[in-house]
Amino acid sequence: QLRFADSLSRLGTESAFTVLARAQGLTAQGRDIINLGIGQPDFQTPPHIVEAGIKALRDGHHGYTPANGIPALREAVAADLHTRHGAEVNPGNVVVVPGGKPTMFFAVLMFGQPGAEIMYPNPGFPIYESVIRYSGATPVPIALREENDFAFEAETVLAQITPATRLIIINSPANPTGGVTPRREVDRFVAGLADHPHVAVLSDEIYSRMLYDGREHVSLLQYPEIRDRLIMLDGWSKTYAMTGWRLGYAVWPDAALDHATRLCINDHSCVNAAAQYAGLAALTGPQDAVDEMMRHFDARRRLIVEALNSLPGVRCTDPGGAFYAFPNIEGTGMSAAEAQDRFLDEAGVATVAGTSFGSHGEGYLRFSYANSAENITTAIDRIRAIL
Ligand code: PLP
Repeated sequence: QLRFADSLSRLGTESAFTVLARAQGLTAQGRDIINLGIGQPDFQTPPHIVEAGIKALRDGHHGYTPANGIPALREAVAADLHTRHGAEVNPGNVVVVPGGKPTMFFAVLMFGQPGAEIMYPNPGFPIYESVIRYSGATPVPIALREENDFAFEAETVLAQITPATRLIIINSPANPTGGVTPRREVDRFVAGLADHPHVAVLSDEIYSRMLYDGREHVSLLQYPEIRDRLIMLDGWSKTYAMTGWRLGYAVWPDAALDHATRLCINDHSCVNAAAQYAGLAALTGPQDAVDEMMRHFDARRRLIVEALNSLPGVRCTDPGGAFYAFPNIEGTGMSAAEAQDRFLDEAGVATVAGTSFGSHGEGYLRFSYANSAENITTAIDRIRAIL
């Protein structure tokens, strides 16, 4: 009998991967499955980025790099953040990691322990709650409300801060809701934080380039007053359709930088060198592929939101960012889990139950529109037939 650590029983998972495995299993059995469950762009990484990765391998970049990333890449990240957000970032504070997730894990490990409280969005990316529990800290949900288009409300968050609060995780544009936090709320949040100097903030901005209808992305980097306690996470996975390359970064405050570096050295040494050169080409090369991808996402977003709202018992708010729609399905009489299972089994449409994103996700289903317009239309028609 192996004696595993107790902490493992507290580690959760990301159900989108379970849904993906089930959908792939059904496809292998010959079923025609339309996957609206997966959280990755259905586009290929732009060719000039792929070529840069191949060139790096040919040029002999086969060894370890500095733990925090190659200097040129960290400088390119700082330059990009200056261009996009007007933020002054020291490349020395940029830590390149294998994807968006490691920063989450490291930030939570840095602040989480029994007795500590960590706030996280609910419904939200499931890994937040999972790693908070794993660390032994108490997860404190930040409820996001449909009536407010799932935007983060500063007051709700500030009211829950206690002396035990160590870290607040926020995410805009958000997974699974597509919610976008307006500048007004970020201003209020940052102003309120002045009364709580012991609280750090992890701002997950992985969807920072994915906004619609002229909405602006408000980066927390734009607030100098909290830079000494802000961890800003972003990366290449979604923007450049590079989920499989495993490349992401964070800007860490001075006080946490050495901890972050040591976590990298203990965990992965450095990111795959070729992926880093590909990431450099992504940031410094032409951006038209990103614009083109966003045009497609925007057209599909309009299509899916209108189609969902035409279904009996379903209503869907307008997602302002990312590539997800998060309709309320209570009117169908089904629970989120039941709808997820029936839509997959009976209609061949993979979606993810809102409850996979936290307790406040009951009554909702996440649809990723990273799929063709044709498939989206067919998927909704099949669901309509069931309803
Ligand atoms: N943060 C959010 C909000 C996400 O939705 C995701 C991926 O779905 C990530 C981070 C993780 O991205 P990565 O695949 O780069 O680890």
